[in-house]
Amino acid sequence: MPRFHVLSNADLHCHSTVSDGTLAPEAVAARAAAQGVELWALTDHDEVSGIARARAAAQAHGMPFLAGVEISVSFAGQVVHIVGLGVDETDAQLVEGLRATRGGREQRAREMAAGLAAVGIPGAYEGALKHVGNPDLISRTHFARFLVESGVCNDIPEVFRRFLKEGKPGYVEHRWAALGDAVRWIREAGGVAVIAHPARYAFSPTAEFALFSEFKTHGGQGVEVVTGSHSDAEAVRYTDMALEFELLASRGSDFHSPAESRTELGSLPPLSAKLRPVWELLEARVS
Ligand code: AMP
Ligand code: MN
Ligand code: MN
Ligand code: MN
Repeated sequence: MPRFHVLSNADLHCHSTVSDGTLAPEAVAARAAAQGVELWALTDHDEVSGIARARAAAQAHGMPFLAGVEISVSFAGQVVHIVGLGVDETDAQLVEGLRATRGGREQRAREMAAGLAAVGIPGAYEGALKHVGNPDLISRTHFARFLVESGVCNDIPEVFRRFLKEGKPGYVEHRWAALGDAVRWIREAGGVAVIAHPARYAFSPTAEFALFSEFKTHGGQGVEVVTGSHSDAEAVRYTDMALEFELLASRGSDFHSPAESRTELGSLPPLSAKLRPVWELLEARVS
């Protein structure tokens, strides 16, 4: 294994069919290995049921692996994603917290379909369900795939823009986990909590400051600086935020699908040498 402080190609954020990715955990592992990933974490939304498969596949490729998860959190009227890295995926409190967080997705999906039907798009629930790999985890991404497949939109970003963002016909307000709970589940399962893709939230500077401060107060330790959805300028901005808030830095593609993802596994720019990488804390959690 490369020594951790010199390890450069870590990819600590991606999805499989266990949440809203299109590749099975084994196929994501194979793709990561082929891309030269030196430390890999699978981070499905609100789910750890792909971790055992991912770990076994990573081991078969000789690729160091961390168990991960991306938890949906409601904070200051918005959805924030908190990535947990190096968790014990069998930890009872984590498993129960994730189960509770997933609960309500089914009902939400039916309400989303009703909203879409009201603007002339029938059958969206059944259509989305055809894309779902895990019946416990129907997500907006599955609706987006249905709306592209049925020709209503040309691509997934267009679906979100027109139908699935806040204020649009297929958007349904949902209560996710509390920030403090998500951080506690991760920490008490032996993991490190990381604020995912911070540039993607539409917070005011005050609300963003509150997010970072409260996250730290709850025991959060890291922030994604280099991620598939950050521009170079955003990576610079969150390099500064990581230094200001004394957070460790993470790096992850947020890969979902060969056809849809902006960023390939293992193909991100490096973290700034000014930053302390989150994996320095996680060496003992690697399998
Ligand atoms: P959900 O957890 O059901 O609300 O779905 C959230 C998922 O939708 C995210 O994890 C992304 O994969 C996807 N998503 C959110 N916003 C966008 C967007 N603007 N364009 C493409 N995908 C998006
Ligand atoms: Mn997703
Ligand atoms: Mn996310
Ligand atoms: Mn993600």
